[in-house]
Parts: sequence; structure tokens; C-alpha cells
Amino acid sequence: MENAYVIGLLGTLYCIDANRIEGINRHQLLLLNPHPAAKKIDKTLDDFSPDNISAFPAALTHLSSLMLENKITAPTSIQNIFLRGDFLQNSQRALIENVFKKISIELGYGLGEFGRIGNLCTFLAKKYGLSAFHPVQYRRLIELADIDENGYGEIVATSFGNPATCLIRYRTGDVGRVLQEECECGKKFTLILTGRKNFDYVKCAGAMLVRQELERVLTSLKDYIEEWRAETREVLNGVRIVGEITLKIKVTSGYAVLANPKEFIRAEVEKNLFLTPTHTLANLISSGAFLPLKIEQADSFPETKKPLLLRRVD
Ligand SMILES: [Zn+2]
Repeated sequence: MENAYVIGLLGTLYCIDANRIEGINRHQLLLLNPHPAAKKIDKTLDDFSPDNISAFPAALTHLSSLMLENKITAPTSIQNIFLRGDFLQNSQRALIENVFKKISIELGYGLGEFGRIGNLCTFLAKKYGLSAFHPVQYRRLIELADIDENGYGEIVATSFGNPATCLIRYRTGDVGRVLQEECECGKKFTLILTGRKNFDYVKCAGAMLVRQELERVLTSLKDYIEEWRAETREVLNGVRIVGEITLKIKVTSGYAVLANPKEFIRAEVEKNLFLTPTHTLANLISSGAFLPLKIEQADSFPETKKPLLLRRVD
């Protein structure tokens, strides 16, 4: 995944180079702190009147919330929004579109150290949402490695071109699957991104759900829970994105002996599960950043060699 400093540096170098080639100074870059003060952004954005915005989805979502809350309208100069570095959820897109109305949003899949891996396509977005891309074919070879029985594998990328800087079979740490069907745009391959390798953690609403931490909490409840899976989503609540965790559990015979089993499990997990170094799920629920934990009972889970314990859903 990309680093904000790398993007800032790349943008600066691009502007210097473009100004040099064209003999002008029109190419300029404004670096915005993802958590700016509302008073400042209003004036800064107006003064700078940007043509384009380039941002991480989470940073632009945060900026959009702030603008909506403070009734700041987007500068009319903006023509394009380029999002990169992370997945874009539907709730985030809705919030961004609420502020930046009809401005076109371009979302590519790439890595700072490698460059572009996949391109977005409007037909794909309609059919599969925003995590589907056509792999870049120009000077690139994109493959899947270690494919499991369900067709999911690690995305591995090779770049050709300058021999000094090309990367051979670079392991991205991202997991996806490939669809071999012809898209309406004519492309024959589609890459669907599903998450990070090993799924050891998922980011959600500014917090992080870590598998080990969840295991720690659920191990203390092993008298009631035999097996579990967890899903996180982000939902739009007013002008804010809030997190929601769903815990699916296969229960033991001890579960039914509890007076109020679901409530008991919910309270225990909310109270003990840390989603930031200092905040539990209960803390984040009371501050309005998360919705109460959802618990669903399951009779069984599909049998796979490496079960997917943690998942982010849209
Ligand atoms: Zn297409």
C-alpha cells in the first residue's frame, strides 16, 4: 500500500518536471493534512483553487465529512479526483460524491514502489463494485500465486521497461481472484481484489480489528463459542462513516445454559476488544465511531484449508 510521503514527493517531482518542460509555473501542488482544521481548509482550498485532487480514500472521506459538517462547498475549479492506495467502500464513495457532486472519481489499484497494477472500468464498477480492475498490460505482467481451492491467490506483479528499475514477480501482499470473461469494454481479464494476505487485520472506520486480539477475547469465551468468523463494514451515518462488526458464531452446549447468551457475549466482546491501543469497541460505540456489535449464530462454516476468519465487506 502507498505511503503519503511517497505520493507527495512524486507529485512534487512531477510538477517540477512539467514546469521545466513547458517553461511555466502553473503545475503546483498543495499538500493537505488529512485532519485539517475546518476554518483553514475553506480559505486554503479557495485560494489554491485546485484542478485535481489526489488522495487516499480514508483521507478524502474524512475531509468530506468535515466539509459537510461545516457547510464548506467544494471549489468549482476541481475537475478530477484520483483515489489510490486503498480500497474504496460504497459508503465512502457516497460521502465523497455528496461533497464533490459531479466531479469524476478515478480509482486505480497500484503500489507506491511498483506503480499501477489495475485500471478501473465503468462497466466493471457497475457489475462488481469498486474492487474490480483490469490488469495493466503495457509493460506489466500481473499473476496470481499460491491460489487456494476457491481461486484466491496473492497478486504478484512484474514490470518491464528500464532494466535498472524493473521488479520481477513482486509480491504485493494483496489477495484477489481472476475472472476470465469478456467485459463490455472488450478487455478479457478482470482482477477482483479481496484484501490483504493472511487477513491478520482489517482497517475499519479509523480503527483496526486485529485477528490475534479478537482471538484473545474469544478464547476467554470458549465455553460458549466453538468457532467464529468476523466481518467489518463501514456504513454512512449522517455525514460520518461509522464502523460495524458482525461476529458469526457456532455455539457450544454451554451457550444455551446462559440466561441471556447473545447479550452476554455482546457485552463481553465490546468491553474487552481493543480496536486502537487505548480504546475498546465499547469506548468507540459510546463515542459514536462504531455501531453496537452484531452477533449472528451459524450452524456450521464452510470447510476450507485456511479459513478466512476476518473479512471486510461492503
Ligand atoms: Zn471493462
